[in-house]
Amino acid sequence: MEDYPQNLADLERRFSSPESCRRYLASIRWHDGFTCPRCQGAKAWSAGELWECASCGCQTSVTAGTIFHRTRTPLPMWFRTIWWVVSQKNGASALGLKRVFGFGSYQTAWAHLHKLRRAMVTPGREPLFGKVEVDESYLGGLEEGVRGRQTFKKALVVIAAEERGKRAIGRIRMRRIPDASADSLQPFVVESIRPGSTLHTDGWLGYHGLERHGFIHQITNVSTHKANASELLPRVHRVASLLKRWVLGTHQGAIDPEHLDYYLDEFSFRFNRRTSRSRGKLFYRLLQNAVRVAPAPYRTMAKNVRGPTPRNPRPQHVGGT
Ligand SMILES: [Zn+2]
Repeated sequence: MEDYPQNLADLERRFSSPESCRRYLASIRWHDGFTCPRCQGAKAWSAGELWECASCGCQTSVTAGTIFHRTRTPLPMWFRTIWWVVSQKNGASALGLKRVFGFGSYQTAWAHLHKLRRAMVTPGREPLFGKVEVDESYLGGLEEGVRGRQTFKKALVVIAAEERGKRAIGRIRMRRIPDASADSLQPFVVESIRPGSTLHTDGWLGYHGLERHGFIHQITNVSTHKANASELLPRVHRVASLLKRWVLGTHQGAIDPEHLDYYLDEFSFRFNRRTSRSRGKLFYRLLQNAVRVAPAPYRTMAKNVRGPTPRNPRPQHVGGT
């Protein structure tokens, strides 16, 4: 049974203390009972924040090894931040977050958002399947006429979109790639789409030979059709234009190419759950991932964000795209 707050008032009522947040996180993280991170023991004594394994005696906390690892932000504040992030229809910006919660600096708000973006990829998620359009699109050239920080340069993004019926889109995946070579495109296809699916692409050479990975390949050549590319692979192109609008609108073009993959993760997280009417359910999903994804210390995320540089070891990004 998934138990999540119904609305903001419910959230505020239930999670006003760090203790209530920790209890909730424990119920999600140790859904099937406590598991010791060292010996996999199933029994523990808990005293306040600490859990002590009954078998090996090691002590752990419910936030250890999660994105909340050693956070100085109180958990009730994190919960409100997450609620706000999932409530933003068009995505969350660091500037917006700073304004709403009065974070001390842009950098602090940015770091919170980026920790959460790492939780937007569900570990072990199901690959796309069925009939899937795949194509690349350029994102960028956004500097002209954009206000604010104009740091975003051109980037190539490969997009896969499930075909649903005549016009509709199922789930999507996307990834930043250095070029449109087979070496860049094919690993993405193999990792994002289940074998047995039908790939729908244009005639580009970079997609040739994917049959050997168990795909059925349907090629629609632009040159043999009168229609233009966006009509031949309409879903991918619709996603690409939504993505461009999102980068320009919510982020005012201010995305460093180096961090682009995490923004793509956020876009996909929202897009793939666009029909979910329940904020509470999204809140629950994000927390579920947040306690399964390794912590991402600020220093390793923030190469291009000006501000203080705290000390911390390098994280693992679990999940890929
Ligand atoms: Zn143990």
